[in-house]
Amino acid sequence: MTTEHATVAEEEYLQTLFWLQEASLPMTGANVARAMQLSAPTVHEMIGRLERDGYITRGSNKAISFTDSGFDHAEGVVRRHRLIERFLTDVLGIPWDEVHEEAERLEHAMSPVLEERMLAAIGDAKTCPHGHPIVGGARLQGVPLADVQEGASVHILRFENEAEDLLHYLKETGLEPGLRGSLSSSTPELVTITTDAGDELSVTFSVAETVSVVADPSPPPRVALPEQLVLARERYGR
Ligand SMILES: [Zn+2]
Ligand SMILES: [Zn+2]
Repeated sequence: MTTEHATVAEEEYLQTLFWLQEASLPMTGANVARAMQLSAPTVHEMIGRLERDGYITRGSNKAISFTDSGFDHAEGVVRRHRLIERFLTDVLGIPWDEVHEEAERLEHAMSPVLEERMLAAIGDAKTCPHGHPIVGGARLQGVPLADVQEGASVHILRFENEAEDLLHYLKETGLEPGLRGSLSSSTPELVTITTDAGDELSVTFSVAETVSVVADPSPPPRVALPEQLVLARERYGR
């Protein structure tokens, strides 16, 4: 059976599952626990509830799949999240490293009418301020900045991990989606881009794993590591 309305907690899990699927990461309880930084028993209980409510099914290999209803709910929450973020930056002028947590709160309480109004208010914008497509299916593949060789041209596509303290760090470095330049140096500690405007911007190597770019020449595509869904503060050197 399918309930008409998912709870806030269910929507949070559906959203995380959608992010995993979008990043081509296995939809498993272990990856959900890692991404949401929750304990395995907590996640196990909620996965059971999502299954009972008709949002997901589970295969014998523990792999989770969306039902049609689950996919629609997940896609809706993710779409509202990204739309709200774009509205907050472009219409209200809030810095892009401060909108993720706000969107987390507002995405559960939005009527279709408000969604329509917000969509009209953001004009031509097609992504959230971190580069994720508002409408599902419009995602460019990209490669991790960490894989790009020195001398290659780069175009920043998106930040894969929207943890707000990571976004604060990225904001301080000066990197942002849409920026173009070339990779001037890559060491096991630090990756540096020289932008077309002549600025030198550096991020730690572990953060460069979470930044998707289009590069020329391009390294082969690869799936992000599940570990990169969560980056503890000490891992990006602050
Ligand atoms: Zn966000
Ligand atoms: Zn975003």
